[in-house]
This record gives sequence, C-alpha cells and structure tokens, in this order.
Amino acid sequence: MALPRVTEIAHFLVERSLSLGGQAIDATVGNGHDTLFLARLVGPEGRVDGFDLQSDAIERTRAKTSHLPQVRLHHSGHERMDQYVIGPVNAVMFNLGYLPSGDKSIITRPVSTLAALDTAIDLLGESGVLTVVVYPAHEGGSEEANEVTRWFQDLPKDRFRVLHHGPLDDATFSRESPYLLAAWRGK
Ligand code: SAH
Repeated sequence: MALPRVTEIAHFLVERSLSLGGQAIDATVGNGHDTLFLARLVGPEGRVDGFDLQSDAIERTRAKTSHLPQVRLHHSGHERMDQYVIGPVNAVMFNLGYLPSGDKSIITRPVSTLAALDTAIDLLGESGVLTVVVYPAHEGGSEEANEVTRWFQDLPKDRFRVLHHGPLDDATFSRESPYLLAAWRGK
C-alpha cells in the first residue's frame, strides 16, 4: 500500500478543526484542490478565502468553484490576507513551492511566506489549525523549508502545539522530500 502523501495528512488534520459553517483560508490556491476541499468542509454557510499571485491559478479555480457561494478568490499575495479576511478562522493551509502545471519561476519566497505565516497565526481562532507543506527540492526550497521550520519551532509552546511529519524511511528526507508542519492554537 502506498504511503499517504503529506497533502493527505494535511487534509486529515484540517478535517478535525473545520466543520460546516466554519471559516478557512487557502493561502496558495494553485490548482484549487485545497480550496475545493475546504469549501466542501465548510459548506454553503461557511467561508473560504483563497490567495494566489498567478492570475491563471485564480481564473482556473474560479471556473471550478463558481457554483460555490462560500468561496472568495483573491489575486493577491498571501502576506496581505488580513486585508480580506476577518478572523477568527478555523484553518489555514499553505502548499509552498511552485505550481507544477504553471509558471515555475513563480515560487513562494521566505520573506513573504514568513510574513504570511505571522498574519495567518494571528487570524487563527481557538483550536484552529495551520498547515504548511514545504518543498525543499527546488532551487531556494531548502532555505525556505529551513526558515519555515524555525518559525514553527519558535511558536510559544504554551499557546501552540506543533507537529512535523515527513517520510523518515526516505534516505533523502531532509534534502528532497516534501514535509508537513502544522500548529494548533490551544493546549
Ligand atoms: N508545490 C506544490 C504546489 C504549490 S503551488 C505541488 O507540487 O503541488 C504554490 C502556489 O503559490 C503557486 O500557485 C504560486 O503562484 C503561489 N504563490 C507564490 N507566492 C505567493 C504569494 N506570495 N502569495 C500567494 N500565492 C503565492
């Protein structure tokens, strides 16, 4: 049996914090998989705000979600999410790196990623979850992965629980494989 992908583990964690009528953010819309996943969990009474710098990603996902009143898509950097979202939110998902089917020169970058994480954690309500899938393999990816990992390590332990998940059986683990970081507000 294949191991679950880290993105599937992220979904498993988010499902526990998000229910009908809830509020969520997809910080990296890309192909829209997470936006659709979040929209299903919150239902028509909930709300999902999605962000992406690539207009193609926004337009493609808009076509897939136009029938879903709970979805709002923003062609904007995720570091400005607090200009569009009023918290508290129940879940925020990031999927870093580049969009495999898009412009590979548009990658998430440490400065804006860390700024967005600071904003996201402030929007997170009690028992809310923040998930980040990091990709160390592409150029610049390992620096970003390290900085994001340090950011999670520096979260105050009395207010957040933090999880790190990745394939330990993979010899190239720290250099290549994507891994998941997650934080919950609360004890
Ligand atoms: N690596 C993943 C996909 C990541 S998609 C995989 O392999 O499946 C990452 C998305 O983040 C891209 O669509 C890109 O346009 C977007 N992005 C990059 N910087 C951003 C920023 N500052 N704000 C919002 N989206 C950003």
